[in-house]
Amino acid sequence: MSLPLVLMPRAMRPVIRDRLAPKVDLVTPFEADNPDATIARVAASVRGIAALGQTVDAAYLDRFPALEIIANFGVGYDTIDAETCAARGVMVTNTPDVLTEEVADTALGLMIMTVREFGAAERYVRAGRWAADGPYPLTRGSLIGRTLGIVGLGRIGKAIAARAEAFGLKIAYHGRSRQADVTYDYHPSVEALAEACDILMLVAPGGAETRHMVNRRVLEALGPQGVLINVGRGSLVDEEALIAALANGTILSAGLDVFEDEPHVPQALLTMENVVVLPHVGSASVRTRDAMGALVADNLLSWFETGRPITPVAECVGLLK
Ligand code: NDP
Repeated sequence: MSLPLVLMPRAMRPVIRDRLAPKVDLVTPFEADNPDATIARVAASVRGIAALGQTVDAAYLDRFPALEIIANFGVGYDTIDAETCAARGVMVTNTPDVLTEEVADTALGLMIMTVREFGAAERYVRAGRWAADGPYPLTRGSLIGRTLGIVGLGRIGKAIAARAEAFGLKIAYHGRSRQADVTYDYHPSVEALAEACDILMLVAPGGAETRHMVNRRVLEALGPQGVLINVGRGSLVDEEALIAALANGTILSAGLDVFEDEPHVPQALLTMENVVVLPHVGSASVRTRDAMGALVADNLLSWFETGRPITPVAECVGLLK
């Protein structure tokens, strides 16, 4: 019997190829002279795709009539129309859990950096200003006695909360529903949470439902001492409203790992001293990215060997008998 044909449209961690190589026929068009022609040549036979940020919609699926599974590299899969995939019987998997602790660490690092201005303070030293101008100004922000409001108290949100509790922060949260086994204060809207907290931490998924859930009104509710941290998705925030809020003092500062149009970061954010910007590095350690890669490969192998993936996304659970 021939091996299942798996397409890897973009370069991914070597661990994926190493795990898949003996058991599937792996096609890597990014290494070919003509990637589009390579994909066109195999499209009719592709049974699996190892996906990294591709937009997968109905038109994309039309190109692969034999497709059974898309294994996404990442826990967020807002680039994939999973409902349409499910309707067509195409399984979608993601990489939950293996990145949770890494992203929570990143979120805490970004939060502290933003609140205590460590990026700006480091630039101050490097520019020779410590010796020339004296000590760096005292920060207006502090973690002491503050409340952290988490939007999206899921796997990563809970790991952030556990760390933040150890720092002495009070925790509150917003999600679509109150969680019965959680004792933190619940707020039924993002605006109410923003009103009740000092630091608003976004760690909800992207997509149409959450688009611009942080808008001008939410930023006004967060207030002039308020800090926004976003490790979820850039689409959660109305970036224009955020830029205005940072410029006119509606909020104090922001720490951003994600942006609306990555890798393009608005020039206004790059020039503001009260903003910390990171290049979407939430899970970006060798260890964690390799664990994510291993799970991508294992989802594909499990599917072809047993007919069941390891970590199907919610929209596709119904495909499992
Ligand atoms: P989970 O599914 O475990 O948690 C998601 C949380 O978001 C849930 O608590 C859910 O609560 C809440 N949520 C979902 N939809 C909405 C909505 N419409 N309004 C309000 N809350 C909502 O996912 P993870 O914790 O594993 O990951 C969360 C997100 O973090 C990913 O989707 C991804 O976008 C982002 N991420 C970013 C990374 C980075 O590098 N910066 C790395 C990894 C992930 P409820 O169901 O009650 O609404």
